[in-house]
Amino acid sequence: MANDYQINERKYFENNGLNFGFRYCFEFRISNFGFISFKNAQVMAQYKINNLMEKIVSLCKRRGFIFPGSEIYGGLNGFYDFGPLGVELKFNIKQEWWNEIVQKRDDVVGLSAAIIMNPKVWEASGHLAGFSDPLIECPKCHRRFLADEAKDNCSECGADISSLKPRQFNLMFKTFVGPVEDSASVAYLRPETAGGIFVNFKNVLDTSRLKIPFGIAQIGKAFRNEVNPKDFIFRTREFEQMELEYFVKPGDDKKHFKEWVEERFNWYKNLGLKNIRKREVPKEELAHYSRGTTDIEYNFPFGWREIEGVANRGDFDLKTHSQYSGEELSYTDPESGEKYIPFVIEPSAGVDRIALAFLCEAYTEEKNPAGQQGEKESTRIILKLHPKLAPYKAAVFPLLANKPKLIKLAREIYEDLRKHFMTAWDDRGNIGKRYYSQDEIGTPFCITVDFQSLEDKTVTVRDRDTAKQERVAIEELVFYLKEKLKD
Ligand code: ATP
Repeated sequence: MANDYQINERKYFENNGLNFGFRYCFEFRISNFGFISFKNAQVMAQYKINNLMEKIVSLCKRRGFIFPGSEIYGGLNGFYDFGPLGVELKFNIKQEWWNEIVQKRDDVVGLSAAIIMNPKVWEASGHLAGFSDPLIECPKCHRRFLADEAKDNCSECGADISSLKPRQFNLMFKTFVGPVEDSASVAYLRPETAGGIFVNFKNVLDTSRLKIPFGIAQIGKAFRNEVNPKDFIFRTREFEQMELEYFVKPGDDKKHFKEWVEERFNWYKNLGLKNIRKREVPKEELAHYSRGTTDIEYNFPFGWREIEGVANRGDFDLKTHSQYSGEELSYTDPESGEKYIPFVIEPSAGVDRIALAFLCEAYTEEKNPAGQQGEKESTRIILKLHPKLAPYKAAVFPLLANKPKLIKLAREIYEDLRKHFMTAWDDRGNIGKRYYSQDEIGTPFCITVDFQSLEDKTVTVRDRDTAKQERVAIEELVFYLKEKLKD
């Protein structure tokens, strides 16, 4: 009989479209660190673990990138927690985006708006009326199915649902503001960050010296009560968005739209994402306000999917918010005196989806040949993340963990480096194991302090991708790493 823990584990893997055999794979991998039972190794052998997604989910859990949300209570479908390494990866993605979109430009400024906004924002944007999916709800167990995926009988309880008509269910999470739970206090968790930007258009314009064209950028959480969260962190119910609303003069919109599509596409390319393409969204698929949308797609193990959409939204947003709020949201050209409602170009990206794309692209396996001391051939994982995205930029090891002089010098180097970069320390096991352990989490440089270091004040720096080592003077390490991390 399966215990509660096993049932919950099974549910977790099933929710992620994984087979239960994977659980044993997970335990087997742990075995590399010393605690496997022979029985599990046998069970694992029954399952062919060749699915890239399974391997990535396994690595993420085992090394502390991503955990199922509220795991000790059996998880919650569509929610994930980012562990010590995952939070660094996401932080680096956001940092790179912010650097490129805000820090390096003088025509874009940042914003951090509240997650819960006046519900009229969502009335104006159309999310209250239109942000919904047609669903069929089983009258017995209340499980909901997408209308076009529903079968004659409920897959949960078997009830006959063949004659039920689909109803619209809104994807926004509802909550109440204040102590009374009545219709007057209903509010929503924002389904996208853009709303906060539009309602602050005038505030930003009035308090800055920006002139059209200019943009307002925001990174923050968004929530969608997705009917069918799936594919690990690809489609979740809570996620982070990085959105830019770039306000332009009507007539200049096509030019800026093209520029932003290129700009955003190159951002991914420059960070090492190769399996990407642009997809011009056909007219019949466009939202009613869109004058053109190009999706940037990544070729995930489950197929080509959108990671970012760049849309020419015309004057829809400022116009409707102006109508609903009664505030004038137009722009007056300081030189010509011409007054108009700006058009907006919106590059909108999801941090979690992008993190998954980078993980898929980076995941690499290499064979270790059988060793002369009887070691069997094995497979090792290298996460070839762009150094700018890697959770740790460097790891420092003393060659031997029982030589105080080596440890002292290694510790000094470690303390110095961590003032500049996220740096790891490892003095467990042998050097080979430490390298593999850092390769798996994508650390681009491993620094070893050996006996020569005590004499000539140099260390070996090993490159993750080439495994090549070179000796570098300790006093030049920070400069050396900064140069390597530059592009
Ligand atoms: P999809 O069609 O895949 O649901 P969308 O077109 O609704 O996506 P947008 O509203 O354009 O997505 O949101 C912009 C970005 O936000 C997407 O490109 C994606 O990266 C991210 N995103 C949207 N919904 C989710 C979700 N449920 N989980 C994770 N990321 C999401």
